[in-house]
Amino acid sequence: MALDNFPYQINTNGHLEIGGIDTIELATKYGTPLYVYDVSIIRQRCRAFVDTFGKLGVKAQVAYASKAFSSIAVLQVIKQEGLSVDVVSEGELYTALQAGIDPKRIHMHGNNKSQRELEMAITHKIGCIVVDNFNEITLLTDLLKKHQYKMDVIIRVTPGIKSDTHHYIMTGNEDSKFGFDLHNGQAEEAFAQLMNNEWIRFKGFHCHIGSQIFDTDRFVLATNILFEKISDWKTTYNYIPEVLNLGGGFGIRYTDSDRPIPLQDYVVRLVETVSEHCRNLQIPIPEIWIEPGRSIVGDAGITLYSVGSTKHIPGIRDYVSVDGGMSDNIRPALYQAKYHGVLANKADQPVETTVSIAGKCCESGDMLIWDLPLPNVSSGDVLAVFSTGAYGYSMASNYNRIQKAAVVFVENGIDKLVIRRETPEDIVSHDLSYE
Ligand SMILES: *Cc1c(COP(=O)(O)O)cnc(C)c1O
Repeated sequence: MALDNFPYQINTNGHLEIGGIDTIELATKYGTPLYVYDVSIIRQRCRAFVDTFGKLGVKAQVAYASKAFSSIAVLQVIKQEGLSVDVVSEGELYTALQAGIDPKRIHMHGNNKSQRELEMAITHKIGCIVVDNFNEITLLTDLLKKHQYKMDVIIRVTPGIKSDTHHYIMTGNEDSKFGFDLHNGQAEEAFAQLMNNEWIRFKGFHCHIGSQIFDTDRFVLATNILFEKISDWKTTYNYIPEVLNLGGGFGIRYTDSDRPIPLQDYVVRLVETVSEHCRNLQIPIPEIWIEPGRSIVGDAGITLYSVGSTKHIPGIRDYVSVDGGMSDNIRPALYQAKYHGVLANKADQPVETTVSIAGKCCESGDMLIWDLPLPNVSSGDVLAVFSTGAYGYSMASNYNRIQKAAVVFVENGIDKLVIRRETPEDIVSHDLSYE
């Protein structure tokens, strides 16, 4: 039986099932907490973007924002599906290279790329650097000269619009640590510096307006603002962009109140908007890049926890504690992110109570879900939290020296461990003695 609104099922045992496998079997086999991804959902999400560009017949790159979840296994799937990869650090770049991603299909982001990161990008001849600020132009130019290498570059600009999302995940507004402002002359200054730089092939523009955006209008607005400048710079400098990177941020369902739209709709609307501007300006359509992260892996992943202690406060609430928390999913504590969950071993049973799910870390703020309706809960039940595939494992920490959980991929009834659970030995493996 399919679940309303979420891409998981309930099997004949009344258990939650993902990718054709009983989650209770997975919890028993691998232990909890456990991240489980249905790889077929990752593939569907990739294809929604890639195939739509293909049908519309425009040149495009879909770059997976690997910060959402980076591991060798997931990047191998991303490679199989023909996506490019965005990285923002030495570790993410190293992981992409280890997964066998073609360096030409890797793009590097970041508002404070180090010399070491830039040199790694240069020596591996990655496809593109998304330049964020003036310091970086100077540093990158020096390093390219040192290595006698000419690099493809686009610049990150901020169009100055606010997206209707949490302040910490809002990036396209003027008061942002990211990018060059389009309105105060900084973007034009960066453009001028890069156009006349012998070590740089200046390809075009990047803008990313934020995350968890559920409509296409704001993408259109950002594109319109970008094209005002492109129009100016065509007139003034006879400049025509080869690449337009319109970022990521496509929204997914975390709870029943989220209203995601089909991923295809974003692509169709963006291509329409860019095509219309190009027709008006009589310029060829640039290669369109997008950078989905959450919408590729978010709802493909769930987390399984074992229920431990419970606390009943008469007239106030019931707390149910699980064996993970902010150490494997910091988003509720970091920006009040909301999640939905079910009891995986009682997935077919009616709701009888409302409880709040507490993590096991020593912080009152370590609450995963407030006021979740569930069947009656007992110690030993398995709680499944939905849509934890993005920014879950990737933001996990060892707070309280809790070991990072394992990650299992399932696809068509087959399960495979792709990141092993940390051990207590792993926890002290970088410690050195002071005796
Ligand atoms: C985080 C980020 C993305 C991906 O955002 P999602 O919400 O995961 O799709 C894309 N581009 C840039 C520049 C980002 O910082």
